Amino acid sequence: MTTIIDGNAVAEEIRSGLTDAIDALEDAGVKPGLATVLMSDDPASQTYVSMKQRDCEEVGIEAFDYELDPDTPADELYSLVDDLNADDDVHGILVQMPVPDHVDDRTVLRRIDPAKDVDGFHPENVGRLVAGDARFKPCTPHGVQKLLASVDVETEGADVVVVGRSDIVGKPMANLLIQKADDGNATVTVCHSRTKDLAAKTREADIVVAAVGVPELITGDMLSEDTVVIDVGVNRVDADNEKGYKLVGDVEFDSAKEKASAITPVPGGVGPMTRAMLLWNTVKAAAEAEGVDVDLP
Ligand code: NDP
Repeated sequence: MTTIIDGNAVAEEIRSGLTDAIDALEDAGVKPGLATVLMSDDPASQTYVSMKQRDCEEVGIEAFDYELDPDTPADELYSLVDDLNADDDVHGILVQMPVPDHVDDRTVLRRIDPAKDVDGFHPENVGRLVAGDARFKPCTPHGVQKLLASVDVETEGADVVVVGRSDIVGKPMANLLIQKADDGNATVTVCHSRTKDLAAKTREADIVVAAVGVPELITGDMLSEDTVVIDVGVNRVDADNEKGYKLVGDVEFDSAKEKASAITPVPGGVGPMTRAMLLWNTVKAAAEAEGVDVDLP
């Protein structure tokens, strides 16, 4: 029987596990704080940011909300980041991507104090992760590791195919899985749009992580029996319903489920974990900044 990996349930476990750490911080007079910066009128970005703020409030993290008009000069965004870097109540800073074209996203990411970079995208944190000394693991791939652990899938010695090589999902996912660590030690193949025969690669895999952004690219016939399938993709496709669209992943769920030993659904798989791991990183940032020992779930 195929296990449907319940991301909502695992995310809830992470959130409730974080409350002990948040209580320990409170005992030490510290309230973790996350600043979110939104510089976009894209409804999806606005929804993501408001969900992150709501998550913070639910677990006892202070959410500092900054919204800049998309026409704001880039320098104003950079000086806001400088102010947040200097603000002791702010332990984590998240600038919601994408930013408008006149803002260089790499400059923004480099401007954030690496100790407050709870997305884990600053080059210092990327380097630390690759070197096996991660400070903040990027939220989505870290969430994938937690999902695999939740259903006792061992990565040690497993052949993992990561489809996608973005800086926010594919690359950090591969880097985490090759680390000499209990949740690493995998043999990882990274595929992308220039990969010659994607199906040949995915058929060899014990675990497939799809982070492509192409609706239902990975189909059941591209998988071997008993593959573990993690679908990171979130794609809107037209649907005959009230909204006019529905969300689908990068994996064709129905055909893949026939082959998989375990599979994440979309929605309700990786998405809730990305949000939970942002809280995790924020609590870690607060504990490290304030020198408080906490146990993280
Ligand atoms: P990007 O667009 O940055 O990267 C997509 C990657 O997929 C690229 O490496 C690209 O290759 C590769 N790719 C594209 N088409 C193909 C193909 N036909 N065959 C093989 N590889 C292909 O996307 P992201 O990594 O940012 O996001 C991927 C998906 O995950 C999206 O649907 C996004 O919405 C979702 N997402 C979900 C999150 C969550 O919390 N659930 C969080 C972040 C993202 P190349 O490099 O050659 O162009």
